[in-house]
Amino acid sequence: MTMQTDILNRYLFDNLHARGELVNLSQTFQEIVAPHDYPLGVKQLLGELVAATCLLTATLKFEGEIAVQLQGDGPVGYMAVNGNNEQEMRGIARMASDTDATTLKDLIGKGNMVITIRPKNGEPYQGVVALEQDTLAQCLAHYFEVSEQIPTKIWLFSDEKTSQIAGTLIQLLPDAGDKEKQQADFEHLCQLTNTIKPEEIFSVTNEDLLYRLYHQEEVRLFEPQAVSYQCSCSEDKCLSAISQIAPSELESIIAEQGSVSMTCDYCITTYKFERHALEQFINDNSH
Ligand SMILES: [Zn+2]
Repeated sequence: MTMQTDILNRYLFDNLHARGELVNLSQTFQEIVAPHDYPLGVKQLLGELVAATCLLTATLKFEGEIAVQLQGDGPVGYMAVNGNNEQEMRGIARMASDTDATTLKDLIGKGNMVITIRPKNGEPYQGVVALEQDTLAQCLAHYFEVSEQIPTKIWLFSDEKTSQIAGTLIQLLPDAGDKEKQQADFEHLCQLTNTIKPEEIFSVTNEDLLYRLYHQEEVRLFEPQAVSYQCSCSEDKCLSAISQIAPSELESIIAEQGSVSMTCDYCITTYKFERHALEQFINDNSH
């Protein structure tokens, strides 16, 4: 039997004031990287960022989107993953130069992580932390510490041979109770989670893994959620971007090239608009 992948599990440790999440990805990740020719180290980091974004979007208590961006002065100047509460993911890396680097520091260089949360109904908000830790998982824990002040730990795994990615999260749910006990409970769960071996996370089902790790705890599992690749580009979004171009400039592009083309950076889909499709725009915008 092949293992079911592209699944996210959420669960509560009822007696320990904590929640957990576990995600494993195969197809979603492969579809995100397929249109691109990324070096191995870039691919791995992007995969980790996809898993991390799944875990983050699963902490949302409302409908909306999260974008996690890494930007720095390294060979990968920019990397971003967008995810929504439906667990639809897309991601991209922009290379400033070719690289065979494999670590966060060597890939991104000196830089920041920007996390933007866009509720469907409400104002977006943004948190920024410097990338000062060695791994993406550590940077994310640091983000929760400074911007949300919730003890959170994230573990990320990638297997270059099978192109599988996995991640798990433990987060304290502080309440009015005994702070010291809550911290001890959190550390206890982190210790249990620390025993995950990469070969284990990629070979056993989420349910079996959760049983192995936490069978002595009371774990309440929610319905698992499917994760998928979904680029959010569309003809309408391209048209609204084109409407920002001055009509005279648009005229000269059409005169020169016969049409206007836009290519989505994420999925490399090209949208091509002939003159007649844009005439409405040119007329609407030139008066
Ligand atoms: Zn696209």
